[in-house]
Amino acid sequence: MRALVIGGGLLGLTTAYFLRQHGLEVTVVDREAGPARATSFANGGMLHASLANPWNEPGVFWHALKMLGREDAALLVRMKALPSLLGWGLRFVRHSQPARYLRNFEKNVHLARYSLALMQPLRAAIGTDYDYAGRGTLKIFRAAAPFAAAQTMSQQLATWGIPFEALSGAAVAALEPALAPIESAITGGLYFPADESGDAHRFCELLTTRCRADGVRFEFGLSVERLLRSGDRIEGILSSQGLMTADAYVLAAGSYSTPLAHAVGVMVPVRPVKGYSLTLDTGEWPGRPNRPVIDDALHAAVCPLGGRLRVAGTAEFAGFDLTLTPSRLNNLFDLVTQLYPNIAPYLDRHSATRWCGLRPMSADGVGIMGSTPLTNLYLNTGHGPLGWTMAAGAGKLVADDIAGKPTELNLAPYQLARFRERY
Ligand SMILES: Cc1cc2nc3c(=O)[nH]c(=O)nc-3n(C[C@H](O)[C@H](O)[C@H](O)COP(=O)(O)OP(=O)(O)OC[C@H]3O[C@@H](n4cnc5c(N)ncnc54)[C@H](O)[C@@H]3O)c2cc1C
Repeated sequence: MRALVIGGGLLGLTTAYFLRQHGLEVTVVDREAGPARATSFANGGMLHASLANPWNEPGVFWHALKMLGREDAALLVRMKALPSLLGWGLRFVRHSQPARYLRNFEKNVHLARYSLALMQPLRAAIGTDYDYAGRGTLKIFRAAAPFAAAQTMSQQLATWGIPFEALSGAAVAALEPALAPIESAITGGLYFPADESGDAHRFCELLTTRCRADGVRFEFGLSVERLLRSGDRIEGILSSQGLMTADAYVLAAGSYSTPLAHAVGVMVPVRPVKGYSLTLDTGEWPGRPNRPVIDDALHAAVCPLGGRLRVAGTAEFAGFDLTLTPSRLNNLFDLVTQLYPNIAPYLDRHSATRWCGLRPMSADGVGIMGSTPLTNLYLNTGHGPLGWTMAAGAGKLVADDIAGKPTELNLAPYQLARFRERY
């Protein structure tokens, strides 16, 4: 059986790897010159089952409305993106209803735990040379109310198998000494020891090398112009290099999966949500950070990756626009100096690598995997802010499904068919 995977980011590559493990003949196509050059390039670096809560939490609508047009808002909706969000946005808001939110949260946690468990055999296959670290994540709070709410949520997470420890400000500073200068501002912290971190781009390069050695074919620099439909099947793809055919097609093109699928009548409720990151060289810094930290008040995260610090955050509904907006990046520089005031004198803004990417966000905050109404078209997209966390698990589930093997998690709650209405 021949499978063609469209997209060489985290989700396409893990799917290709596991398909090959099942003995399929696999080709991955991507319009970029190498693996993981789009959203999987410079993400926050965290594999955090602890942060599996969908972004459409109860109250998200009023929050977004208050923030409309504000450049400093963590969640910014640009006016020009509004028309493309109308139908999708209604569903996004509808899924913030508490019972639905909780159900979707639980689905994400199960997939995240499954995915993190699969990272161990994957590391045995590709090594740990992707700045892998298993030091958990630390969430810090600067006020009592959000800290109390987060503890309640963490108790819920614990019932789903995600361990955590609640810490005082002093205990936070003891666990991450780089935070000692702001200890008095920290009300408390939550530590999630099972989380991991690593550089997604480097991971994808290693996985590509491994896949190649296993016999997967890669066609980089090849753009898929459209899928060709015949009846209830895909009969090929029209690419910048002509027609390509396979028995099964996996659409793992991130946010671009939506227009490609739409053109063959398959409505995929995924929209791009832009996020930014900075990568800073920490070589000269005294007492440099050594654990991933999420600052609840500032809605952003910092993650050590070897001798670098990745700072990521902000969410912007701006369509497919990939402009690097200085004010959004400045918010991230400010975060670093607020978190680590001792480091401010060493912070070289000029040498920082600035980046933005489009999170493929589904309308209910859960990734969309597996079959579609077209018999040989499969999806692996919509993982939004959790694509690195979910990549191994989602890739394995989709590959098992295509190969006709039993899946270790029930795939039905993650399939497109859960969205019964038309989009
Ligand atoms: C700022 C930021 C921080 C984040 N932090 C985290 C984090 O800490 N933890 C976490 O779990 N997740 C995080 N994420 C989310 C995660 O990075 C994404 O969910 C994940 O990278 C999506 O991977 P993907 O394979 O679906 O998409 P992509 O990586 O975008 O891959 C899709 C591929 O398809 C290719 N493609 C698209 N259209 C075509 C076409 N027509 N023809 C050929 N090829 C095509 C693209 O070139 C691309 O390589 C973050 C995201 C952002 C933006």
